Amino acid sequence: MTVNLLGLDQEGLKAFCAGLGEKPYRARQLLRWIHQAGVDDFDLMTDMSKALRTRLQDCARITAPRVIRDSTAGDGTHKWLLDVGTGNAIETVFIPEENRGTLCISSQAGCALECSFCSTGAQGFNRNLSTEEIISQLWWANRCLGRGVSADRPISNVVMMGMGEPLANFDNVVAALELMLDDLAYGLSRRRVTVSTAGLVPGIDRLRDACPVALAVSLHASNDELRDRLVPINRKYPIKELLAACVRYLDRAPRNFIMFEYVMLGGVNDSVGHARELVSLVKDVPCKINLIPFNAFADSRYVRSAPDSIARFRDVLMQAGLLATIRKTRGDDIEAACGQLAGQVQDRTKRRQRRNVEEVAR
Ligand code: SAH
Repeated sequence: MTVNLLGLDQEGLKAFCAGLGEKPYRARQLLRWIHQAGVDDFDLMTDMSKALRTRLQDCARITAPRVIRDSTAGDGTHKWLLDVGTGNAIETVFIPEENRGTLCISSQAGCALECSFCSTGAQGFNRNLSTEEIISQLWWANRCLGRGVSADRPISNVVMMGMGEPLANFDNVVAALELMLDDLAYGLSRRRVTVSTAGLVPGIDRLRDACPVALAVSLHASNDELRDRLVPINRKYPIKELLAACVRYLDRAPRNFIMFEYVMLGGVNDSVGHARELVSLVKDVPCKINLIPFNAFADSRYVRSAPDSIARFRDVLMQAGLLATIRKTRGDDIEAACGQLAGQVQDRTKRRQRRNVEEVAR
C-alpha cells in the first residue's frame, strides 16, 4: 500500500521523509507542492532529484476523492459531491461573496446527532472522514477555483459547517485544521477558520487546548426544554454547561466572541418571548448571533419563520445590545444551503427505518 500524502500535516510528512532517510526540508517542499501548487504528480516536483521522485512514486500517492457531481447555483454558489467509497458521498460548498469566498467543508459521512431540523441528521451516520478526506475538499476546491495563496485567492475562509459534527471526529479534524493554518500549506489565519459544533462540551475544551480557531455553536433554542427536542445532544450537555464551555474557550480563541447559530423555525423557536429569553440566556457570553432562516428538504417537519418574524426577533436582540445578523440563504436551488447537505450515506444507524415507523405511527 502506498501512503496518501494529502492527509499528512507537516509533522506527519517529516516522519514520512525520515522513514525514507530524507531531510526534514523535504517535508516542507512536499507541503508546498501538494497544497500550494495543487500538484498530484511527483514528476512535476522539479526541485527534487529524478531518483527521489521515482522513490516517491513507488511508495506514496496524492489522491483526492473522485468528484461525482459538480453543480453551480444561480447565485454562484458551487457544490461538489465527492465519492468517499462504499456507497458514501459527501458534499463541499463554495460560497462566493463580494470581498471573501467561504468554503464549507464536511467532517463525517452523515451525522450521528439527529438534530430534528437537519437533513444530514435525517440521513443517518456512516463514519468519520479521514484527515485526507477532509483536507481534500479544500485541496480540490482550491485547484478548481484557482490556486495560490495571494491576497485575492478565491477561498479566504473555511467553515466546518458541512455534513457531520466536527468535534465528534476530533483528531482528524484537528490535523486538517493544522494544514489549513500552516503557512507552507494554505496559510489561513485562525480567525478565518471556523469550527461549528452542536455543543459537544468536552470537544470544545479539547479544541481550545489543541487548536483554537473561531468557534460557532449551534444554539437554536432559548431554553433546555426546547433545545432537548431540537438538538438532542443537549440532554447530555445542557445549555448552562455549553455556555460555560464557550466562556472558557474565549480565553484562547482568536476572536473575542462566540458565534451562536439560531435556525428560525416557524412557530417553534421564533417568538418575541423566545428572543427575550435568548437575550437573558447569553448575557454573560461575548457573542454574535446569526439567525438562519430554516431551509426545507424532503420530509422536513418544519417551516421557515416568516421574514417579519425573523426581523422582529433580530430587533429584540439588537435593542438589548446584542449583535445579530440574518444569514442570507445561498445556493438553495442546488440544495447547498445550511442543513440541506445530504450527500449519500449508507446509514448504519437504521435511522431512516425508525423515522418511517414514527411517520406511520403518527
Ligand atoms: N454539526 C455542526 C456542523 C454543522 S453546521 C453543527 O451543528 O454546528 C450546519 C449549520 O446549519 C448548523 O448550525 C445547523 O444547525 C444548521 N442547520 C441544520 N439544518 C438546517 C436547516 N434545515 N436549515 C437551516 N440551517 C440548518
